[in-house]
Amino acid sequence: MKFKQKNLAGVIIVILSVIISLGTLISSNSIYTVKFKDGSDLYNHPILSDYDQFSQGNFSGYEFSYYNLSVYLDEKTSTVAGNLTVDYYNDDPVNFTQIPFHIYASGMQFDKRAGYIEILNVTTLEDPQEQLDYDVYSNIQLMWVNLTCNLEPGNRISFIISFNTTLPDGNSEKLDRASDYGWDDNHSRIFKFACCYPLPCVYDEFDGWNIDPYILIGDPFYYDMAYYDLIINVPENMTVAATGELIESMTIGERTIHHYNPHLPVREVTFSASHYFIVESDIIPYINITVSSYFLPKSYDLWHDFALEIAINSGSLYHNTFGNYCYSTFNVVEEYTHYGGMEYPLQIYASEAADNYTGVNGPHWYLESIIAHEVAHQWFYNLVGVDEVDWGFLDEGIVCWVSDWYKDVFHPDWHMFEPYWGLDRVRHYSLNYGLPNKINQSVPDCLISGTDYWYLGYTKTNTILEKLRVTLGHENFIEGLTLFFRDNYFEIADLTDLQNAFETVMGESLDWFFFPWFDNPYLPKYNIANVIYDAKSKIINITVKDTNEDLNPYSYSQLIPIKIYSSGLTLEYSDYEWINGTTSLIIPIANQPVRVRLDYSDFVLVQFSNYGLNYLETTDITIVNRSEQKIPGYNILLIILSFSAFGLIILFKKTQIPNE
Ligand SMILES: [Zn+2]
Repeated sequence: MKFKQKNLAGVIIVILSVIISLGTLISSNSIYTVKFKDGSDLYNHPILSDYDQFSQGNFSGYEFSYYNLSVYLDEKTSTVAGNLTVDYYNDDPVNFTQIPFHIYASGMQFDKRAGYIEILNVTTLEDPQEQLDYDVYSNIQLMWVNLTCNLEPGNRISFIISFNTTLPDGNSEKLDRASDYGWDDNHSRIFKFACCYPLPCVYDEFDGWNIDPYILIGDPFYYDMAYYDLIINVPENMTVAATGELIESMTIGERTIHHYNPHLPVREVTFSASHYFIVESDIIPYINITVSSYFLPKSYDLWHDFALEIAINSGSLYHNTFGNYCYSTFNVVEEYTHYGGMEYPLQIYASEAADNYTGVNGPHWYLESIIAHEVAHQWFYNLVGVDEVDWGFLDEGIVCWVSDWYKDVFHPDWHMFEPYWGLDRVRHYSLNYGLPNKINQSVPDCLISGTDYWYLGYTKTNTILEKLRVTLGHENFIEGLTLFFRDNYFEIADLTDLQNAFETVMGESLDWFFFPWFDNPYLPKYNIANVIYDAKSKIINITVKDTNEDLNPYSYSQLIPIKIYSSGLTLEYSDYEWINGTTSLIIPIANQPVRVRLDYSDFVLVQFSNYGLNYLETTDITIVNRSEQKIPGYNILLIILSFSAFGLIILFKKTQIPNE
């Protein structure tokens, strides 16, 4: 729904309904007690059968694909030879004759040794094995496996892809998700196997097959849930961190084979291996999850106990708030990277650069920020999946907000929301960069339109979510995120699902919030256009104009503190008013006003047009129906009559004949 522009009647109806419904909401503040549409109480979740069942680890009656990934790490050649046994389940309503797989490694950054996935062959499972046709397009990091028959909905097909992955190297400027980096001399070498086996593409109703190439901006990945077995063959004495529970290890000669299984469906798997990892583990007893950290000796002072503590604290908060982390293991693993960290199911990576972080808050703050953020991705990326090519901002923005909330809970003295750090960055963004910044667009569209995806994903989306929390109240906001999580548990969610969850909690449409804040390229930029004070009726009429309105598809609605002063800067009026696009306000004011101000000191989102001025005001006030001036204590009529009488007397005297 658009409540915009040409259809004036529609605009008025929508604005009125917004004013009425939100007036009620805001006036009752954060203790607003709504019930769900089904009549249940605020903290009683609606019936969510999938969540109830899945969160107990019960997937009976549901079909998923199954992958068995078996890999062999060769540390001399920096390669990983692998077999991926695919048991693909078609849960889409169309027949398939081909299945595409991402082979991302050739898109990754490197120094001298490029990443590459060589496909050796694709065969059927039956004996004798039959070769299947396949096509490889390394330039777009894609392969198609051609099936010999139609794969109909609800059916399965099996085959084995044999491949050989070269792990890219790296340097101080280029390091990517997969790498063999570091040195044996100083005990710092780490092998990282991530995004570098043939990963099945997702078919959906929006794009058909999602076959986007590897993109360096954001974390643009998109996977369905599937069961995995992971067999990793490494040199003896190498320590491995991997997705899933270690089922067994076996050493044969100079090699050790580890078997991992996450037990429940995951979106992908990863492992990291090093001769030098130090391992620490702890169990969260009441949910029986083994949490482990893997780090290099050089990072002992920072990582020892601390990485585990942060993972456990943040994970417990998210688990107890949003819903079950239903797996039995979770790993935090040190990595070489140019970003802070990276999320994978059951295993996250955090940058070794935290050791030497020189920011004002220090290395502990930085590592804590990374871990709390990547842990939150277990809830918003793995358990609830997102097409991170088309809606990358969604899980990223949620995770940025959620990890800031973690900081607020565990470090109240950090004052994360007083005010929120993103508020001023968003208000100054156009002033600093002058770029349109619509949130709801894909990563490739950001590249085409020149939009800064990093700003959208990591600053603006979370700031808009914070505005939503301020608007709805904290309890409703957390309830909305929780409902979003549980409604989409083990599935794929998009922005509409997030809006639906908040609407269910609030029991009303939130189009007025979501459409403009997520879909407009520009923030509102207000102008106090026309101020008229009627001195007779003592009413001021203020027109607030959004000068960016024509640049945006939707009109903004937000509460803005309005202040009106009379002479001597006496405050005559101070209250919140809804500004819905271009808005006329009619306010009774007893004394003649001299100054009208929109105060941006609160969580008002506007495009600032200069630095350091957090209000907009005017003294240009037209006074109408000004009454005649009176001299106090005198009756003007009496004065006029007196003067007239005096004049008559003079005249009378002048007309007399002089008596001389
Ligand atoms: Zn993230």
